[in-house]
Amino acid sequence: MLVLKIGGSTGIDYDLIADDVVAMVREGRQLVVIHGGSALTNEVATALGHPPQFVTSVSGFTSRRTDRRTLEIFEMVYCGQMNKGLVEKLQRRGVNALGLSGLDGRLWQGTRKAAIKVIDNGRRRVIRDDYTGRVEQVNVTLLKSLLDAGHLPVICPPAISYEGEAINVDGDRASAATAIALGAETLIILSNVPGLLGNFPDEASLIGHIPAQKLDDFMAVAQDRMKKKVMGAQEALAGGLKRVIFADGRVEQPIQGALAGQGTVIE
Ligand code: ADP
Repeated sequence: MLVLKIGGSTGIDYDLIADDVVAMVREGRQLVVIHGGSALTNEVATALGHPPQFVTSVSGFTSRRTDRRTLEIFEMVYCGQMNKGLVEKLQRRGVNALGLSGLDGRLWQGTRKAAIKVIDNGRRRVIRDDYTGRVEQVNVTLLKSLLDAGHLPVICPPAISYEGEAINVDGDRASAATAIALGAETLIILSNVPGLLGNFPDEASLIGHIPAQKLDDFMAVAQDRMKKKVMGAQEALAGGLKRVIFADGRVEQPIQGALAGQGTVIE
C-alpha cells in the first residue's frame, strides 16, 4: 500500500505522474492518490475578484485564509478541474480512478477551528469565520470498499467537520493521516522541487536522506509551505510509516524514481 500526494504548485507534470501511477498499478501495487490545487485556486480566485490571502499563525505556519467565498472557489478548483482532470488522465490510461473529496462519505473528518490566531503586520489577530481544520478520522471502511471494488481513489480537500461543515485542511498532513489509517509503509509527496533543499531555492542543495529521529532539526531549513510537509512527515512517521519521500513531480517516472531513492528519503 502506497499513498501518493501530488502537489498543486506550478510546474508539476500530471501526465508524467499519471503514466507512472498506471505503471505502478500494472505492477500490482495498491495505491491511494491525494492531490492539491493551490496554484490554480489562486488564479481562479483572482479572476473571480476574490484574490487569495494567506495568514501566518503565531507558530509561524502559513495557510490559506478560507472565508466562505474562498471555500466555494477552493471547491470549484480542487473538487472540479483538479480532481476530474486527474481522474480523466488515469481513466484515459485504463485505470478505474474514482475521485472524491474528504467531504464525500465523511472520508476525512476533523474539528473546525473555532478561531485562528494570526500575526498581521506584526500584531496578533483572531479570525473566527475561517473554514479550516485538520483531519482526525479517516473513513477506512469507505476507502477499502473502493479499493476492493477495483477503484483507484483520487482524494482532495476539503474535509468535513463533525458538525457537517466543509473545512479546508492541509493536503500533506491529510495524506499522512490517510497513510497511517491505511497502514501504508510509504508516503510519497511530489512537488515542484526535487525534495527538501538545504539552501532553498538552490536545487543542488538537495538533502538526500534524513533519519526519522533527526527530522526536527530540518524544520529550520524548510520555509513557508515546506514546513507543513515536514510536519506531515513527522506525523506519518510517528503514526507508524516506514518512510516518507519528498520527490520531484516534474520528471519522468517520479514515483519509481522516489522509490529508488531520488528526492529526500526520511526513514
Ligand atoms: P505543493 O503545492 O506541490 O504541495 P507547496 O508549494 O505547498 O507544494 O510546497 C513546496 C514549496 O515549498 C516549493 O515550491 C518551495 O517554494 C517551498 N520551499 C520552501 N522551503 C523549501 C526548502 N527548504 N526546500 C524545498 N522547497 C522549499
